Amino acid sequence: MEKIIVANHKMNMTLQDTQEYIKVLKNASFKPIICPTSIYAKIFIDSGFETALQNVYFENKGAYTGEISPWQAKSLGVKYVIIGHSERREIFKEDNKQINKKIKKALENELKVILCIGETLEQRANYQTVLSKQITEGLKDIEDRIIIAYEPIWAIGTGIIPTNEEITETTKFIKSLFSYDVDVLYGGSVNKNNIEALKEVNVVSGYLIGGASIYAEELIKIGEVVS
Ligand code: PEP
Repeated sequence: MEKIIVANHKMNMTLQDTQEYIKVLKNASFKPIICPTSIYAKIFIDSGFETALQNVYFENKGAYTGEISPWQAKSLGVKYVIIGHSERREIFKEDNKQINKKIKKALENELKVILCIGETLEQRANYQTVLSKQITEGLKDIEDRIIIAYEPIWAIGTGIIPTNEEITETTKFIKSLFSYDVDVLYGGSVNKNNIEALKEVNVVSGYLIGGASIYAEELIKIGEVVS
C-alpha cells in the first residue's frame, strides 16, 4: 500500500516561499498531505493538494479571537487536521481533555484526524504507560477511525531517531490498543538521508515530516524513496 506522507510546515514559510514550493512540488509522482501554516491552506487546496491544518479549536464558531474551527476548515476544502502535536502540548499547554474535544469537533465536521502522540526521553522506559494514556484520554468516547502519528519528542527536530526495532516495537504496541488496524505514521527527524533505512520498518503506514518537508526537492526525494 502507498505510504502516507504528511508535510508539517509549522510556522516556517512566507507567501513567496509557498509559491516557489508549489511550483516544484506540483511535479511530484506521489501525493503528500500538506500541513501549511493555516493562512496558506487555500493556496494549496486550489493547487490540488490534499491539505491539513496543524491545529483546530474545539468549537465551530464564536468569540475565540485567533482560533480556527473545524467547521471553517471544512468549508475551505481542508481534508485532514493534526491534533495534539507535541509543540501544542508543550508550548500551548494542551492536555488530553482539550485534545479529545478538538478531535470530536473535527470528526463531527468530517475532517480526518491525525493524532500525535509521543514520549519524552525521560519517559522512554515507560513509553507504554505514556502512549496508552494519550490514546485512552485523547480518544475517550470516540469510535471513528483516526490516524496516529507516533512522534517521540526526543526525535523531533533533533536529528536523533529511534532504531528500526524500536519503531517497530512501539508501532506494534500502539496498534494493539485499537480494535481496528489503525494507520500509524512515524515522525521525528525524517529526512532524505535516513529514509532509505526507515523504509525497512514495514509496520508504519507513512511518515510525518517537519523540518525536511519545507524543502520541496527534499520532500520529493523522500516520497520517491518510499513510493
Ligand atoms: C514534527 O514536528 O512533527 C516533526 C516530525 O518534525 P521534524 O521532522 O523536524 O523532527
